[in-house]
Amino acid sequence: MTNFEETKKQFILPEGMIYLDGNSLGPMPKNAPDKIHSVLTDEWSKMLINGWNDAAWMFQPEQLGNKISRIIGAENDCVVVGETLSVRVYQALSCALRETRKRKIILTDSGNFPSDLYMAQGLIELLKNQFELRICEPDKIHENLNSEIAVLMLTDVDYRTGRKHNIAKTNKKAKDQGIITIWDLAHSAGALDLKLRDWDIDYAVGCTYKYLNAGPGSPAFIYVNPKRIDQVKPSLMGWLGHQSPFDFSLNYTPGKGINRMKIGTPPVLANAALAASLRIWDMVNMTDVRLKSIELSERFIGGLKNTCPTLKLASPTDAKKRGSQVSFYFENGYPAMQAIIESGVIGDFRSPNIMRFGITPLYILEKDIDLAVDIISNVLNKKLWDKPKYKKRKFVT
Ligand SMILES: *Cc1c(COP(=O)(O)O)cnc(C)c1O
Repeated sequence: MTNFEETKKQFILPEGMIYLDGNSLGPMPKNAPDKIHSVLTDEWSKMLINGWNDAAWMFQPEQLGNKISRIIGAENDCVVVGETLSVRVYQALSCALRETRKRKIILTDSGNFPSDLYMAQGLIELLKNQFELRICEPDKIHENLNSEIAVLMLTDVDYRTGRKHNIAKTNKKAKDQGIITIWDLAHSAGALDLKLRDWDIDYAVGCTYKYLNAGPGSPAFIYVNPKRIDQVKPSLMGWLGHQSPFDFSLNYTPGKGINRMKIGTPPVLANAALAASLRIWDMVNMTDVRLKSIELSERFIGGLKNTCPTLKLASPTDAKKRGSQVSFYFENGYPAMQAIIESGVIGDFRSPNIMRFGITPLYILEKDIDLAVDIISNVLNKKLWDKPKYKKRKFVT
């Protein structure tokens, strides 16, 4: 059993703050400064260039990837870390498009994150519009899966409402029709009990600064199904994905297995923070996390239902269809969220009218949920948000 009192102690959380925004940026692990400091003082400053060999910096992408594998229920040696999520989406999709023959449609849904859609649009333009991006409603995916579809590219959990797909079922339906599948796990990795080993997904990507708590701008990851990695032709052919980068050959030969998905130089300092956060994940069982997340979410929804009738649940009421966030529609959501934040509960806002709260069992306990419910209902019931200072929009909402 995961001890959540113990995991909570592994994070720095400002006194008096209830942090319900770990779906957007996780808090700092207590061991992160020491870990980063040691990379600076014991490795970079002393070893300089030798750090690539002596501190094994060059092998971070696959070593950290193997730790993420466990969290997403994947085999060893099928995940590498590096770059940002937007780049990983582009990488996965461009590899997938190289595999297609006659089919020309990329199917996605309107619940996908804009960056994923923009990456697809840019790639399609580059390929002289021979492919089409078809965007349907999330609940219409199944009826749109047919023999015309080349690639199914979806984000598992909707960033606004927390509505979750059924990866196992949808992926199987797509694969049965010969469709290549790409899943974005941005709001799933570290939140849900994923079973990539069992699902026969082709490509998956995700970031590490949300539920995985590796810090602002921490690197992304990409998974490729180990059954087919040897047939995958890289499209972002960086030197570190080459079979033997230090031969400096003028021509590209893909590296062995997942190594071919590496692109450029690993972000060593950012990887230090990721290594620090992954040490906490060693204490954690994902089945426990999912159960606890559902328990806490139900408590939060139930509490606000009783005390705050003005809030309308934007997330699915059925916990099985929800990721690990709870969202509400509220017309004055922006000022309300600013007032709630000033009262010590941190959530965020997504246009036009969604208030989001991330539920993260690693550092949120029942008593935090109960206190958050009290604070939120106090702000809303007394209309404490109705002040000009809360209405001015910041750049990041
Ligand atoms: C957070 C998120 C991103 C962000 O991509 P970055 O390149 O890390 O900025 C992309 N896609 C989805 C689905 C996300 O949730």
